[in-house]
Amino acid sequence: MSLLEVRDLHIRIDGHHLVRGVDLQIERGECLALVGESGSGKSLTALSLMQLLPRHARCDFERWQFDGQSLLGTTEAQWRRLRASRIGMVFQNPMTALNPTMRVGDQIGEVLRVHSRCSAREARRHALELLERLGIVNAAKRARQYPFELSGGMLQRAVIAMAVACKPALLIADEPTTALDVTVQAEVLALLRELCRDQHVGLLLITHDLGVVEAMAEQVAVMYAGRIVEAGPCQAVLSQPAHPYTRALQQAMPRLDDRRDSLLAISGTPPDLSQQLNGCAFTPRCERAMQICPVRQPAVYAPSKARRCECWLWEPQAQGAGR
Ligand code: SF4
Repeated sequence: MSLLEVRDLHIRIDGHHLVRGVDLQIERGECLALVGESGSGKSLTALSLMQLLPRHARCDFERWQFDGQSLLGTTEAQWRRLRASRIGMVFQNPMTALNPTMRVGDQIGEVLRVHSRCSAREARRHALELLERLGIVNAAKRARQYPFELSGGMLQRAVIAMAVACKPALLIADEPTTALDVTVQAEVLALLRELCRDQHVGLLLITHDLGVVEAMAEQVAVMYAGRIVEAGPCQAVLSQPAHPYTRALQQAMPRLDDRRDSLLAISGTPPDLSQQLNGCAFTPRCERAMQICPVRQPAVYAPSKARRCECWLWEPQAQGAGR
C-alpha cells in the first residue's frame, strides 16, 4: 500500500480550472519530484494536500488515501492534528515560515509541545537535539536567537526541524532551496534526502529544476498547465523523455559540461487557464504538433506499468492525421 495516493485532483479558483485531473502516488522512503514551470499548478497541488488552499478555492478528489486512510471528509480539527504530526511542509522562503518575534528554539519546541504533548523542558531539549542533527553549528546559541539573526541556510534548516519535529510520514517541500545560495542549496537538499531515506519519510519535492530532480528523486511527475503530462521512474523519464515538454525542459537546463553557446529557451508562454482548453495545452509551443493536438485531449501512452505520457505522438492513427 502506497503512503499517499491521489486520483483525479481538480482545483478551481474564481472559475479558473487550474489543476485538471492530477494523479500522484508516493511510497515510504521515496522522493517524488513534481516539476514544471511557474504557474503549472505544482504549488496549488502541494497546498491542496495540506488543506491550505485559500477559502474560495474549490478542490475535488476522486480518491485521497494517506497511510491506509481516506482523507476525504476529514474535518478541520482532524487536519490540525495531521499537519505537523503526520504531514510536514517546508516552504520556499524560510523567513516567512517562521515567527519573527519568537526565538528559533522556542518555535520548534512549541510544535513539539502541541503535537507530542511533552513538557516545556523536554521540548527545549528535543529542539536542540534536532538543530544539532540538522547540522546547525553552535545549536544552543542559535536556538536562543531570533530568525533575523540567522543566515538563509540556517533558517531553512530550522524550518525543516519544525517540519520533521513530530516525525511525519510525509514531507512536502515546495522549492525549498530557491531562496538560498548555491552552496547552501546542495546541503539542504542532501539533508532532505537523508531524512527521507533514514526515517523512511515520503517526500514530495516541488521544483522547476531538473538538476535537483536528477539528484533527489526516484520518481518524477512533469506538470504542464494543471496536468501531469509525463510521469515515471526518474532515471527512465530523464534518459528517454517521451513528452516534447519534458524534452524542452531538459534542453533549457544548464549543465556543467555544456558546450552550447546558448540555452534553448522554451518558446511561447503557458496557456491562459481562465479559458476553456480543448486538446493538448502544449500545442502552441510544440514543434511536433499535429492537426489532432489542439482538438482532442491526448491519449495516454504507457510504455511500462510505471510510466505514462499524454501525447498524440505515440498514437499511430494520430500520426496518420498529418502535421
Ligand atoms: Fe506536442 Fe501534440 Fe504531443 Fe501535445 S499532443 S505534446 S502538441 S505532439
